[in-house]
Amino acid sequence: MHDDIETVLFDEREILSGIDRVAAELTATYRGADFTVVGVLKGSCIFVSDLVRRIPIPLELAFLAASSYRDGTTSGELDLNFFPSENEIAGRRLLLVDDILDTGRTMSSLRAELMSRGAAEVRTCVFLDKPARRAVELNADFRCFEVDDLFVVGYGLDYAGRYRNLPYVGALKPEVYGASV
Ligand code: 5GP
Ligand code: MG
Ligand code: MG
Repeated sequence: MHDDIETVLFDEREILSGIDRVAAELTATYRGADFTVVGVLKGSCIFVSDLVRRIPIPLELAFLAASSYRDGTTSGELDLNFFPSENEIAGRRLLLVDDILDTGRTMSSLRAELMSRGAAEVRTCVFLDKPARRAVELNADFRCFEVDDLFVVGYGLDYAGRYRNLPYVGALKPEVYGASV
């Protein structure tokens, strides 16, 4: 285990079994329908790549880049840095995928943005869900795991740009946050 990690919440085996379950739900939902998985970079990149490989029906893949947490652990304004082209959105059934649903502001603004650009439908899928912190009315249509109100890293989730490459999800030791928050 990495020195900065205090506890592991989900190990690799648990993560993959949660993803298998959600992939089966998605396969049943979208069978016979043409859809596009839209990953929110950077946090969802590892989740999306494990997820789509377990969905054995035709799909397209797109990404957008949005960031709300800058260097710290408190939510800031949402920046849209990169968006799919219009022909990837207009008239399409989209599955918006993010690493974690916290206050819900990110998913809620992104869903509205995609709808305003002509998507036929936008459903949401998250790797982690922190319902305790919800500030807007939004529940993910699909989710792998619920987590308590604590800041987690790994499996795509970062703190100040680091720890995305950990193959598990864990909580950081308090001293790692140092004086930055
Ligand atoms: P929301 O807009 O729902 O408040 O925040 C969602 C975004 O905040 C996520 O995409 C993620 O980037 C970041 N975030 C929220 N909670 C956590 C957390 O516990 N750990 C990490 N690493 N990022 C988080
Ligand atoms: Mg994010
Ligand atoms: Mg982040």
